[in-house]
Amino acid sequence: MQTSSNSVKTIIDKRKKEFFDYLRLDSVSTQNRSIEPTVKYVTELISSTGGDFQVLDDLGGNPVVYGFFKAGPKGNADKTVLFYNHYDVQPEDPLDEWETDPFDPTVIDGKLFCRGVTDNKANFILRLYAIEYLMQSEEGLPCNVKFLVEGEEENGSPNLDAYLKKYADLFKSDGCIWEFGGKNEKEQFVIETGVKGMAYFDVFVESADVDIHSSLGAVVDNAAWRLTHALASLRDKHNHVLVDGFYDDIEQPSASAQQAVKEKKVSQDKIAAIYGLKHPFITEQLDWTAEEALAFYPTMTICGLLSGYTDEGTKTVLPRKASAKLDCRLVPGQDPLKIEQLLRQHLDKNGFADVKLDLLKGSKAFRSDIDHPFVQTVKESAEEVYGTSSEVVLSPTNPGTGPMFSFGEHLGIPVASSGCGHAEGKAHAPNESIRLTDFEQGTHHMVEFLKKFKDA
Ligand SMILES: [Zn+2]
Repeated sequence: MQTSSNSVKTIIDKRKKEFFDYLRLDSVSTQNRSIEPTVKYVTELISSTGGDFQVLDDLGGNPVVYGFFKAGPKGNADKTVLFYNHYDVQPEDPLDEWETDPFDPTVIDGKLFCRGVTDNKANFILRLYAIEYLMQSEEGLPCNVKFLVEGEEENGSPNLDAYLKKYADLFKSDGCIWEFGGKNEKEQFVIETGVKGMAYFDVFVESADVDIHSSLGAVVDNAAWRLTHALASLRDKHNHVLVDGFYDDIEQPSASAQQAVKEKKVSQDKIAAIYGLKHPFITEQLDWTAEEALAFYPTMTICGLLSGYTDEGTKTVLPRKASAKLDCRLVPGQDPLKIEQLLRQHLDKNGFADVKLDLLKGSKAFRSDIDHPFVQTVKESAEEVYGTSSEVVLSPTNPGTGPMFSFGEHLGIPVASSGCGHAEGKAHAPNESIRLTDFEQGTHHMVEFLKKFKDA
């Protein structure tokens, strides 16, 4: 590593109070807490690092903060990287499971505990530190850096697409470093270059105006049977989705993406142990591997079921209504609106026209070209900090969902992740944490990345 560890450390020590004050802001977007002071604080962090900012709030929702740092005189002003972060955090409950005060940053055994620290405040801070370090160095900042810091990520980023569309020129850049990133359970540094999309549905059946004495079950059907039959028609017992056309639009992944996924081994035993699984992986019955399923295939999941009497003892009743929550994680090529249409057609065709379907949330998947020089620069710079290629893993598609598609669609740029997360970081859960050594390494990665990106 060429970077002097001391100087990055000096910046980390010098700006510790500023970082901790950022963590103390309980910016829970779903509960509308502390949004205004947090936006102000984000702009102050950008200016105290030497950047310019704009607060964008004309399209509704929580404001989006734009930040800009100009390349130094020796840098390459033709290259611009975009850092995507969010200042909002998840609610802290259940409170009694926290071992520290959720909004009082606390260091124990080299770990920093606080709500929002890994998701996503520390990653924003370490990127600012990397910029400060480079601005102070003899070479100066090697390229232009832009920031997009939004405040609704934990709420599904409902307005981000509109802001990216309207302000595409403002955010114009050559590549985007995603908000999260870090190490997996094998301590490998994982670079994610894509995410799955989502189609989330309410499924609902009503069979009468009132609940009925179950003796009438001899002649009257009920909502619970209607719903379970409808749901059962969607997937066979070998776990293939039976909706006509469901798999049709899937884009074939590139050869390099397939190769990267092949190398990224999933341990069924480990996952079974973590969750106490009672059944083997469903991929045992499918034509694709667990690794391929996680990266390249869509899912269909019953997330919840509700009907009739479910308390203690007996109550003999024909439930008049039944509902389910259904989510489909989509892959590149699939469109949530088309999936809704296909599901509707399937239900109608199979005699379930009375089963209502509401698309609650839809987003498309995104996958960067992993051979793109931007992605390769993120990888090569990571290898300088984290070790050889076996410690740095490229993951073409994270099995989760995020607003990456909008960046690809409106800015036309590749996306890759880098951050200081660790496998036990407990994002969204009590006792969320980062490891301070990861935080320092993450800062070094961004320093090395910006230096290399200049000429990439
Ligand atoms: Zn989150």
